[in-house]
Order: sequence, then C-alpha cells, then structure tokens
Amino acid sequence: MKCPNCKSKDIGKIGVNQYYCWSCFIELSILQGQIYTHQVEEDGTLSSLDDLFEDDDRTISM
Ligand SMILES: [Zn+2]
Repeated sequence: MKCPNCKSKDIGKIGVNQYYCWSCFIELSILQGQIYTHQVEEDGTLSSLDDLFEDDDRTISM
C-alpha cells in the first residue's frame, strides 16, 4: 500500500487498521477498503485530510 498523499511506501503500522506515513507524517486508517487520512496537529488533535484526495486515490488496490 502507498500513502495517498506522497505516494511513499514508507508506511508503519501503529494499530489495528492504522498506519503512519513516515515521509509526510500523516496517519492513515483503513476501513472497508478505503484509506482515511488524518494529520496530527501540534496540539495533538487530528484533522481529516480526506477532502484533498479523490476516491480513486483512497481506494486500496489489492
Ligand atoms: Zn505520505
């Protein structure tokens, strides 16, 4: 799987269906074949980046 943001494969697993991109520092979660992206803000809150991507980019191709 690749990061939909930076296309890097440098993805680390941080939990069940949760991953972290070490290249652009966003969190990825996988749900029903879709990638959901979140950015961790400086105060620790998560903001969704899903609006930035097309559905195709967020669909996992197996
Ligand atoms: Zn990335």
